[in-house]
Amino acid sequence: MMLKSRFVVPVDAPVIKNGAVVVEEGRISAVGPARDLPHGGVADYGDAVICPGFVNAHTHLELTSMAGRVPPSEDFAGWLRTLVEMIKTSLCTREDVQNSVRMGLSQSLAAGVTMVGDVTRQPVWTREVLAASSIRGVSFGEVIAVGWTRHRLAELLEIALSDTHQTDRIRAGVSPHAPYTVEPDALRTCAQQAKEIGALLCIHLAETRDEDLFLRKHEGPLADHLRRSGVWDDDMPLAECGPLELVSKTGVLGSSTVAAHANYVSDADIAQISNGGTSVAYCPRTHRAFGHPPHRFRDMLAVGINVCIGTDSLASNPSLSVLDELRFVRRMYPDCPPQTIMEMGTINGAKALGFGDAAGSITVGKHADLVVIPLEPAGLRSTWESILDGDAQPTEVYVEGVPQLGRKRTTL
Ligand SMILES: [Zn+2]
Repeated sequence: MMLKSRFVVPVDAPVIKNGAVVVEEGRISAVGPARDLPHGGVADYGDAVICPGFVNAHTHLELTSMAGRVPPSEDFAGWLRTLVEMIKTSLCTREDVQNSVRMGLSQSLAAGVTMVGDVTRQPVWTREVLAASSIRGVSFGEVIAVGWTRHRLAELLEIALSDTHQTDRIRAGVSPHAPYTVEPDALRTCAQQAKEIGALLCIHLAETRDEDLFLRKHEGPLADHLRRSGVWDDDMPLAECGPLELVSKTGVLGSSTVAAHANYVSDADIAQISNGGTSVAYCPRTHRAFGHPPHRFRDMLAVGINVCIGTDSLASNPSLSVLDELRFVRRMYPDCPPQTIMEMGTINGAKALGFGDAAGSITVGKHADLVVIPLEPAGLRSTWESILDGDAQPTEVYVEGVPQLGRKRTTL
């Protein structure tokens, strides 16, 4: 099958005008100018761009049903406490969780997201849904082990790293939630166990300014949050260092780790992230919603850090669309090269999630995970304007060459 359009954006190679992608048995067998490629069945999308499927490197699909219910504010700890309370009452049953994940999945695919780094408190229930879907990615089972909840560490780790419902497309990973909700020894254990079986690890890191104060002194809004949550006990160890130093010395940093947010980082912190080969999932609109100072993603990219894009959950973000995030970044940082923005939303995410050789770009041999975005107004915009400056949504999305949306197209 050949897919044709006015432009093909491989991401790892220059834009191809009047390009085509040939798909055989779910994989890309050729890409180039349409006139140079062998014809078979042709789906001609005309005035459109074909690009790789987008990668949402940090999200929580099970919180999709929380959309709009806990508006983000500058009081992060207060927001988190309200969210946790709401989860306790609204996401109790398998049906609640799985319905929420299903909604998130269908919104993701409709937005052209074909790969996710998904964090879940209910790995078994969530993975059952993910495994039955078309999505690719890593399902990170969340671990919280602080105060009296530390006794649950072994159980949570076992569930997170279980191979139940793992498939070729869905791999299990572990997410020690954050440096303030997982004690140092537990962080070390998570890192060791993930490493032993080659699993990926995701952690919310340096998300708020309060994290540093908590780790050094057990003070501030996050300490209040833990006390009010009822998990506090007198055996909680003081880290006596900042978040980056803590994750570095507990073995959490490394090329198999995705650090979500990294909103408050010094030059030394950035160097530490870079040395470890850790990927950073920047969540642009969630970052903005909590009123953080400008994110240092460009400083990170400049020293070679693999920065990818996450939406985080609908509890803090208006959509699960990476394309919407990229358009937001384009508006906020018009001097950032469009190629760089596109890489963050595709190949960088695939690399972060361990699928860099299998997906994330339109490259011969990779899975045919593709998105079709119409040029609007028809034919008048350049490629980048059409993807990043317009507001057109995908008209078709392919995973391994199989159309996911089934919308109208011209077949010749
Ligand atoms: Zn998150």
